[in-house]
Amino acid sequence: MLSTARTVGFQSGERNIFFHILTACNLSCRHCYINTEQHGTVTLSRETIEKWLELFADPAKKSNVIFLGGEPTMHPDLVHGIARAKALDFAVTVDSNGYLFHDILEKTSPDLLDFLSFSLDGPDAEVNDPIRGEGVYEVCTSNMRRAVEMGYNVSVIYTVSRFNIDQLHRMIPLLSEIGVKRFFIQVIGLRGNSIQESVGEQGWQVSPEQWLAVVPAVAGQAAEAGIHVTFPKVFLEDEETFECAGLVAENFFIFPNGRVYHCPLCEDHPIHALQIKENKLVPNRGLTEDNFFQLQIAEGCVMNKLLQPDTISYDEQGKPKYRISCCLLKQEILPA
Ligand code: SF4
Ligand code: SF4
Repeated sequence: MLSTARTVGFQSGERNIFFHILTACNLSCRHCYINTEQHGTVTLSRETIEKWLELFADPAKKSNVIFLGGEPTMHPDLVHGIARAKALDFAVTVDSNGYLFHDILEKTSPDLLDFLSFSLDGPDAEVNDPIRGEGVYEVCTSNMRRAVEMGYNVSVIYTVSRFNIDQLHRMIPLLSEIGVKRFFIQVIGLRGNSIQESVGEQGWQVSPEQWLAVVPAVAGQAAEAGIHVTFPKVFLEDEETFECAGLVAENFFIFPNGRVYHCPLCEDHPIHALQIKENKLVPNRGLTEDNFFQLQIAEGCVMNKLLQPDTISYDEQGKPKYRISCCLLKQEILPA
């Protein structure tokens, strides 16, 4: 029998710092969410990375920092950022597209870097490369193997869309064979390139029925194969309570132009709750994302309703067929 998924409630006292240290990237994935109009093209200096990490360090709380880009390994000082974050007692993750610039594997170590996450959107080049770029599958998987051999904890992020949902199950043998420990299944967001690019009437999105038919079952199979799987809740059951992470959790999405958001759905809009100015974290005035978190609606997440209304459908009585959970609410299945 397959293991069942557990919803991971928001943990009070735990904080997640998603730190975009640059927006540049060597790839141009078709669904890229980076928005340089909103977040600029700055590459933070080594000194700024260290100072901004210090702003979020809190020894009283379990804190995770996730270095992101663009492609974070393109930053020549990423290794210093990792070392400083570890010295400040953060659990440290780097999310990479797999190219691993600047000899990152040789220059840092599994003692400093808790997890190295690779983004891969298909179990072979035929599925992955039309989404992420020609030749990317080969580079990404060879570097995953190298990282595992060098003793790093390796995880994989798979962004589910209409173009790869049918191939999700084929990731399991690949991840097992490489020695990947954690598998993060994500849902495509309607942001960045995925909004702009026309890919037919249905776009990139999968329907609720497709998601529910495929993702929990594949996640269960991956856990049976010994992999720790995490995937977003997306649709709440009738008896489940809706919670907005903006109100009950501590998440910070930091961009190199100093914007700091609590909610990733807000990132394409200048409604960030906080701003880093002269290396100090200051609250923003006026209409910010915080004002939206308070609103309670039948559809669940208010930002989803405002920004992605097409993802919600209604019955004949006008009641939403599914309430949409906070995009930060996850389910996990531990390895069997
Ligand atoms: S999705 Fe990530 S790897 Fe792909 S182009 Fe955007 S920043 Fe680069
Ligand atoms: S995704 Fe929705 S529920 Fe989650 S923090 Fe943002 S507004 Fe709140």
